Parts: sequence; structure tokens; C-alpha cells
Amino acid sequence: MDKSVIKELCGILGKEHVQSAPEDVALYAYDATPFAPVARPDAVVFPGSAEEVASVLQLANRVGFPVVPRGAGSGLTGGARPILGGVVVSTQRLDRILKIDSDNLQIVVQPGVVTEDLQEKVEAAGLFYPPDPQSKEFCTIGGNLAENAGGPRAVKYGVTRNYVLALQVVLPEGTLVRLGARTLKSVVGYDLLSLLVGCEGTLGIITEATLRLLPAPESRGTLLVVFDGMEAAAGAVAATFKAGVLPSAIEFMDQASIRCVEEYEPAGLPTDAAAVLVVEVDGSPPETERLAEKVKAVMEKSGARLIRTGASEEEAEALWKSRRAVGPALARIAPIKVNEDIVVPLSRLPQAVSGIHELAKKHGVKCACFGHAGDGNIHVNLLVDTGDADALRRADLAVDSIFELVIELEGSITGEHGVGTTKQRFIGMELKPEAIETMVRIKQALDPRGVLNPGKIFPSP
Ligand SMILES: Cc1cc2nc3c(=O)[nH]c(=O)nc-3n(C[C@H](O)[C@H](O)[C@H](O)COP(=O)(O)OP(=O)(O)OC[C@H]3O[C@@H](n4cnc5c(N)ncnc54)[C@H](O)[C@@H]3O)c2cc1C
Repeated sequence: MDKSVIKELCGILGKEHVQSAPEDVALYAYDATPFAPVARPDAVVFPGSAEEVASVLQLANRVGFPVVPRGAGSGLTGGARPILGGVVVSTQRLDRILKIDSDNLQIVVQPGVVTEDLQEKVEAAGLFYPPDPQSKEFCTIGGNLAENAGGPRAVKYGVTRNYVLALQVVLPEGTLVRLGARTLKSVVGYDLLSLLVGCEGTLGIITEATLRLLPAPESRGTLLVVFDGMEAAAGAVAATFKAGVLPSAIEFMDQASIRCVEEYEPAGLPTDAAAVLVVEVDGSPPETERLAEKVKAVMEKSGARLIRTGASEEEAEALWKSRRAVGPALARIAPIKVNEDIVVPLSRLPQAVSGIHELAKKHGVKCACFGHAGDGNIHVNLLVDTGDADALRRADLAVDSIFELVIELEGSITGEHGVGTTKQRFIGMELKPEAIETMVRIKQALDPRGVLNPGKIFPSP
């Protein structure tokens, strides 16, 4: 990148908020995707206002360089990694909670606020922000909005999109717009708000969000349910809903996940079990108790070997901490962990989990499955042994077959991690060419010079 551009960036942001030394920018070539980076950014900027973000994008359009938005870099599909160099726009300094409006159950935040910090502030006010990606200790609201992040509680409360009322966004050409309204309903014009949520930072940089809150549930109950059969555990998920219970979470862990996390973040999970479900119910104390009893009955009928109920708050938190640690625990034993997040209709879960394990075995790859089973969303982790030169190729083949199975089961190839760069080659398996073409035309209309997060989602022609 020409030095004059760096100089202009320093003019916009102040030189202390622009980094361009190779050792400073190297980190920003990575996110949580376990593959070697494609390109280093030429510069990383840390704007302090939406106007500065707008000026950076205006400069990018005038001079012609890529701009890549970035929150915490915890994305798992390469969305925040530059592939053509250019400028990374970090939201690190845009990290303020601007307002909690308890009367209207709303919160106004900047994009760099860490999700767990937001949740804690909201809980202190007796309110509840349900979206709970398992990276919440470090991921940002901007990244959650761009990926439409989900989490265990999506099963009852929905995903990030369901909590967005209004956004301030800088569009790719540098125009600052406000979308949505501070009301619970608004149907004026096209729903551009929904288009921006989940666009993986390709249609705009979110600089402020007004999010909806809920009253906090009065109580929660957590059950640990142990199964000797993986399919029985998966089958118990649909059976729970069929019995008329809407839990606030149902998480699944297979044996490989249980064993790995027990070594890393022990929570007393039985390492001889084929699978466990962690089920959470919430409501008033009598309602929570009633739901827990109903879940227990369904699980017994579904063949559970052991059901632990009545966990104290500390025990429940230890269980959730252990669940959140599954991804990092697997990464510790397999530095290359091909991580997919497939979704299937609930009734197809047993076929999906057994089919995935069979396909991994067929291709000679170790596999661990865990995730948000209540949504039919399973994180499939293919563990690549770096000492085995052919293992990555076999894992790639396994992914192809797993996605074929998922489409056959009327599922989707990604429930929450997005497409980024790692799933580009697969989107044609799920979307018809006409749908992809329509999306590409929307991208071209909003970003005619192709400056914002280029090379993401859509395969190059
Ligand atoms: C251990 C672990 C557990 C995880 N668990 C979950 C889970 O349960 N559910 C889930 O959904 N995901 C999960 N993830 C994936 C990831 O944490 C989420 O996708 C998260 O939303 C990314 O937030 P981030 O701030 O790290 O964004 P980044 O990784 O920095 O960016 C992600 C994408 O958002 C774009 N972006 C970032 N900020 C903005 C902005 N202000 N405006 C526009 N675009 C922007 C980037 O360009 C990029 O395309 C997990 C990841 C890890 C490592």
C-alpha cells in the first residue's frame, strides 16, 4: 500500500490509531479458523467514531483498497481475515454501552462491546439479553450481528437477529445510515436491517446497535442426561418438544467431546457415556420444577442411563463452563480442527450424528460432535493429526460427504458460523444459482467497487 494512503489514514484517525508495521499487523491476518492466513493487512485502524469509519470507506472507494471489519477475531470461517491485503477496521475502541433503557427494555451499544459484558450489565438491571454464543467471553456484539450468532438458548429465545431493533451502519461507499426503529414493530420500506444482520461484514460496517431485552427468567433448572447410545441421545431431543416442553437449551456432546473436555475443564461428566445432553429449563420456580420433571420423564422413556437434576447455580455454571470449553479442548489435541456447524430438522438428528461418524470413519478421520442439538445444530469437528500428511485431504473429502448427507436430510451447511472463505465452495450445494446471483447483485449494487470484505461468501467466478 502506498505510503501516502497510510498518511491519509493517519490524518483521518490520528497516527496513534493506525498501525502498519508488519509485526503490528501480523495478528490481524488470523481469526479462529485453524488454517494458515492468506494475506497480511497493509494497515489496521482503530476508529473512535462512526464518522471515522465512514471516512475510511470513502478513502477506500477513492483510492481502491479492500476494507475488512473486525471484532474479536473469534470467527470460525475466515470472515475477519483479509485475503487481498488492505485495511482492517477494528472496532476495539468502539466499546461503549451507550444506554440501558429499562422502561422500553432496550440497550444501545457500540459494536466492540464484548457479549458477556453486555449480558452482565443487563442482568445487573434485572433484564436479560438471550443470545449466548459460546465465545461470549471474548466475541463482540458487532461480530455477533455480522454473523447472526446463535447459542444454546436460541432454541427458546432465538438468535441475534431476533433482538435487533435498529442499527447505525456505514455502507460500503462510506454513507452513514440508520436502519430500523426503536419500536417493536416497523414496516416502513424494505427490511434492510435484516439484510445487514448476517451479511458477514460484506454490506456495511455496524457502528451502533439498539437491541431488545427481555425480563430475566425468575429461575433456571439444569439437567445432565447420560446415554449409552448416541442415537438415543439425539432422538431424545425431538421427543422433548413432542412432549410439549420448550427448554431454554439442549446441548449435545458425544463421547469424543466428553473425554476431551474432561481432561481440560473437568465437570464430572461420565467418560464412558456414548453421549450426554445438557438440558436447561426456565420460568417461575414452580414452572421450572414442573418442566424439569417433564424432561426427566421424556429422557427416561428415551433410554437415558442416568439423569442428574437439581444442580445448584455453581454446579450448573461448572457444567456450562465445561460445555463452552469443548471447542478449545479439542483444539488442544488437534491443532488443525476442521470445524463445521451443520443443522438438520430435529427428527433427523439421530441419522445425522450416526451418519457423520460413519463418514468420518470411512475417510479415516477422527471426529467429535457437540453443539446446540435443540436447534438441530451440531458442530462437527474433524481432528487432523498434523503428523499424518494425508489427513487434511481425507478430512476435506469427509466434509464433502457430510454436507451431501446434510442436504439429503433437508438440513443446512451452516447454522451460525457463516460462509466466510472456508465454506464458499459449498454454497452451491444449498442455494440455487438464481439465489446466489440475486445475492451477488445486491452486493454489487451496494458495493460497486467491491471494497468491503471482498472475496467472502461467494466463490470467485
Ligand atoms: C470457542 C468458540 C465458540 C464459539 N461458539 C459460537 C456459538 O455458540 N455460536 C455462534 O454463533 N458462534 C460461535 N463462535 C463463532 C464466533 O465467536 C462468532 O461468529 C462471533 O459472532 C464472532 O464475533 P467476533 O467479534 O469475534 O467477530 P470477528 O471474528 O472479528 O468477525 C466475524 C465477522 O463479522 C464481521 N464483523 C465484525 N464486526 C463487524 C461490524 N462492526 N460490522 C460489520 N461486520 C463486522 C467480520 O468482518 C467477519 O466477517 C465460536 C467461536 C469460538 C472460537
